[in-house]
Amino acid sequence: MTQALYKRVLLKISGEALMGDGEFGIDLPTVERVARQVKAAREMGVEVCLVVGGGNIFRGLSMAASGMERASADYMGMLATVMNALAVQNSLEALGVHTRVMSAIEMTSVCEPYIRRRALRHLEKGRVVIFAAGTGNPFFTTDTGAALRAAEMGCDALMKGTQVDGIYTADPKTDPDATRFDAISYHEVLARDLKVMDQAAISLTRENGIPIVVFSLKDGIEGALTGAGQHTVVGGSDSAQ
Ligand code: UDP
Repeated sequence: MTQALYKRVLLKISGEALMGDGEFGIDLPTVERVARQVKAAREMGVEVCLVVGGGNIFRGLSMAASGMERASADYMGMLATVMNALAVQNSLEALGVHTRVMSAIEMTSVCEPYIRRRALRHLEKGRVVIFAAGTGNPFFTTDTGAALRAAEMGCDALMKGTQVDGIYTADPKTDPDATRFDAISYHEVLARDLKVMDQAAISLTRENGIPIVVFSLKDGIEGALTGAGQHTVVGGSDSAQ
């Protein structure tokens, strides 16, 4: 088996990646497919942190647009990420992968509270740690939560599993001339306003020198972990690589 380029990674999955062909909620076969990729990464010897979004259930911003107080709506969004985390945990454990869910908002009868040193210990023991409830603060996103936890856990890369196989100059679904970057700098992602992750998340990864690897969940995580196959790596200095 080809060696993985990274010893410890954080995998960010958006809530929408869990809803399959549905328009809302959790599709268990889809969750299981994601879980299989996490298992594949573990079998390559990679330590895995996981952050799951909540957009398939609840997005604070859209509820705030309908008139709800933003902070309360965001707390509801964070609770949605806990539901997704439990669904992913269920699928992983069914595949025999040991996991812990740690929430940034304490709910001790459901999962562990997030304690950094404890999370590190879980990783050292080979457990997959699923970080729920984002950063625990309203006005943030799970992308930022992912960048934050990746820095705290000393991850070698932030893997962003999406529907497309990397970052394009334009939306490949609507623009036939769009081309994919193999590598791009943080600066260029920000300057071109490419919709990879939100700006706070890009800044955090940049400050901490953590590459972001954007890959297609359909193609699978193995190629992205070994540097084979199609994906985009965000990193490097201020000029495109
Ligand atoms: N959220 C938040 N703080 C965080 C992370 C998430 O308030 O640190 C809320 C926010 O309302 C967001 C929702 O949780 O809309 C779901 O997260 P996100 O939109 O990042 O999920 P994704 O787009 O990845 O599915």
